[in-house]
Amino acid sequence: MDDRNRQVVLKRRPVGMPAPEDFDIVDGPVPEPAEGEVLLRGVYLSLDPYMRGRISGVRSYAAPVELGQVIEGRVVGRVVRSRDPRFREGDFAFGGYGWQLYSAVAAGILTKLDPTEAPISTALGILGMPGLTAYVGLSDIGQPKAGETVVVSAASGAVGAVAGQLAKRAGARVVGIAGGADKCRYVEEELGFDAAIDHRTPDLGTALGAACPNGIDVYFENVGGAVQQAVFPLLNDFGRMVMCGMIAEYNDTAPRPGPNLGAVVRKRLKIQGFIVGDQRGRIREYRAMAAPLVREGRLKYREDVVEGLDNAPAAFIGLLQGRNFGKLLVKLDRDPTR
Ligand code: NDP
Repeated sequence: MDDRNRQVVLKRRPVGMPAPEDFDIVDGPVPEPAEGEVLLRGVYLSLDPYMRGRISGVRSYAAPVELGQVIEGRVVGRVVRSRDPRFREGDFAFGGYGWQLYSAVAAGILTKLDPTEAPISTALGILGMPGLTAYVGLSDIGQPKAGETVVVSAASGAVGAVAGQLAKRAGARVVGIAGGADKCRYVEEELGFDAAIDHRTPDLGTALGAACPNGIDVYFENVGGAVQQAVFPLLNDFGRMVMCGMIAEYNDTAPRPGPNLGAVVRKRLKIQGFIVGDQRGRIREYRAMAAPLVREGRLKYREDVVEGLDNAPAAFIGLLQGRNFGKLLVKLDRDPTR
């Protein structure tokens, strides 16, 4: 065990794209667990797009991170000391305790992980919040039927990869949109989507139209911006837009001009946003469905693992620029289960 803790704190609120100078790395004492708490040593830290909102200072569906505070984040860790009978030294647990190496956490808010069920890192991706997001968005809002066309943006990413694979399992024709040839190849060849289109292609609307000859019935929206503009005119009557995220707009410093929503009426579209946190109670239901598929290799995933807490700010900035390829994780320590 190290004798010092290390944390990444918010130094300055970013304006536009975050910069490394917005973050500070500080060392301090390893916290002492109180009665009912455990001391966790982080093994994997999850970096997620929603953190851009949390450091902006704007109150939305969750409170912002304050200046000088540890950046919020979900972590899989190893118990190094326990003062609660539910956990023993060496257990693995998952919880939201931020960009830091050590944390003393109330045992009651932690989820114990069984490393024989699935790799522990999957609790942050395919079998965790991003996977549940795809499942909830698709089953509650998208509701694809066999033969329909589903388009998923950020298709190689943590949420998009699951959304597209679940839509395929529902019998839909699935078209992914992703950044660059490598991601598109992965989406088609590894994830089994019917087609993948690079959003940097000069005429995205035409390329998308060619890949969706019967129009688009469900759009799983992860990106917004130019990608959304290309998809919107291709939506069929009674189409559904699953408003999951609009990462291309998270660094905007002014609101974009509003869309003309006349087509929503004419085509009887359904556009619905959702926040996965409202549905966190369904993680068991999701894992019961997804974990066997993951074990059998029928639900595929890819992790992009960056080494070391000090590299978290740069990796997070890369996420907002599409530099990650798969679920972005920071490895904080050796994973003794691999
Ligand atoms: P990803 O693993 O998909 O990583 C983010 C990806 O977004 C990048 O790899 C990149 O993919 C794409 N991207 C980033 N910037 C741009 C840009 N300017 N233009 C186009 N694409 C861009 O992240 P997640 O799977 O974790 O998240 C995907 C979306 O889901 C996000 O919008 C996120 O906010 C949202 N989300 C919503 C939740 C909810 O409760 N509603 C919960 C969890 C996530 P590429 O290179 O392929 O474009």
